[in-house]
This record gives sequence, structure tokens and C-alpha cells, in this order.
Amino acid sequence: MFSDLHTHSTISDDADDSMRAMALAAAEKGLELLCLTDHADLDALDGGPQKQPFPLAEWRAAFEEAREAAGDRVALRLGLELGEADHHPEAAGALAAAVPDFIIGSTHNLLHTPDFYCGRPGGEAPALFDTAEKRRALLDRYVSELEATARLGLFDVLGHIGYPLRYMRPYEPQLSLMPWRDRLAELLRSLIAAGKGIEVNTSGLRGSLGETMPAPWLLRLYLDLGGEVLTLGSDAHRCRDLGAGIAETKKWLADLGFRRHCVYNKRKAEFYPLLD
Ligand SMILES: [Zn+2]
Ligand SMILES: [Zn+2]
Repeated sequence: MFSDLHTHSTISDDADDSMRAMALAAAEKGLELLCLTDHADLDALDGGPQKQPFPLAEWRAAFEEAREAAGDRVALRLGLELGEADHHPEAAGALAAAVPDFIIGSTHNLLHTPDFYCGRPGGEAPALFDTAEKRRALLDRYVSELEATARLGLFDVLGHIGYPLRYMRPYEPQLSLMPWRDRLAELLRSLIAAGKGIEVNTSGLRGSLGETMPAPWLLRLYLDLGGEVLTLGSDAHRCRDLGAGIAETKKWLADLGFRRHCVYNKRKAEFYPLLD
């Protein structure tokens, strides 16, 4: 099963191609299942509340158009990447109820704090984590917010664990979530107990991060704790990145000891062997 469960279309304001174009490109690349998971971020990039409501009608119409265009060449699923649900639980709950197939629960920014993306060198908030002390404090809050998101539970898999590292590593190349290992183990245990999963996001392989989110050591920990609900996603924001890094990631996940990955249909996990 060649699947990509984390992708963005022009419904997200940071992506390039329509759902229709993404679906056709997925079929062209030999993907068997594509889930479109546009951003429904409840906060804006600067950490203030989102001013634009999520365009539900436009989103559904774009998906219908994609489905018509792709026919039976690729199985299409409609999901959302729900960002910052823990900051706005009621609005998040209402959005989650509108999602047919799959929800990724993501943390891009901490409460009243700009998106980690803004702290990259030369970014909109260059002083966000320009000292080791600030980075430690923010990562500590990040782990707390992952815990809060997990408690809220309005998702199927927790998205790209380790996202801040992507933007912090230019300042501190060895930075990792390892100092939070015990709390992360507890978080993973709580996800397993609740029947939730995590995603393996391959976008880090295309950039300077050079690894998946979560990192391999954290995936190994998840496996050791008995975790098996695992989805694969490229986080493609354009056709050309669809499916990127997924085949190679499946190989080393199998070497790590995982046997299966899953896709979602109507918010239910369906399992497939990692290696066909
Ligand atoms: Zn994300
Ligand atoms: Zn994404």
C-alpha cells in the first residue's frame, strides 16, 4: 500500500496546487491512496487567534472536483491537519466533527507565541529562540502542549512530533527531544491506551533537518512501548513532493522492527504490511 496521509492543497494558504492537481499527480506517481489534510490552524502565524474561518464549503467542493477528476485511479480521503486544538477546544471540536476520514493533531505554535517557523534565522520573530535558554524553555512548553493536545483527543494521529527542531537546529545542530524522553514515553503510552497513533512525517528528509519527525529514536521508543498505529505522510505542499521519502522510510521502519502502517477511512485505521 503506497499511501500519503499528509498533504496540502490550495485550501491551505501555504500550498501551491489544487486538490484536483494533487489527486491527478498522485495517480501519476503510483500512489494508491492519497489523503488531503489541509491546514485548519486555529491560530494565525503570529500566535494570535485565526481571523479567517476554515472554508468548509470550498474544501468539500474542491474534494468532489478532485474525486471526479481522478476516478478510480487513486483512492482519495479527506482529512484535516488540525493545528493548536488545545488553544481553542470548542472551535476545534466543531471542525473535527466535520472531517470525514482522518485528522492529524498538530502543534505549530505555543499559546500566544508565534509559529516556530517564524523563529528560523532571518524569520519574522528572530529572537524567539536565539539562546539555548529560550530553546529549552520553549521545548519544555512544546512537550506540555503535546500532552494537552493528546488529552483533548480530537485527532487520529499526533502530527510531526519534533517540529520545533526543524527551525531550532540551525542555531544548535545537536538539539534533540532526548532530555524529555520520560515525558514523551508517558505521552506515547497515553496515545496507545486511547487507540490513537502518530504520524511519520518525511518532510524533514527534504530539508536541512535530515530526519523524519519524529526522529528514529522516538519511533523506536514507540515500538518498544507497543505502539503500532503509524501513518506515513510527505507533508507535500505541491505536486512534486507527493509521496517523497515514503518508500525509503518504510524500509528503515521495517528494519527498526515495525511490521505495519495504516491508512484511515471514516476515522478508522486500516492496517497494511510495511513491505509488500
Ligand atoms: Zn504541520
Ligand atoms: Zn502539514
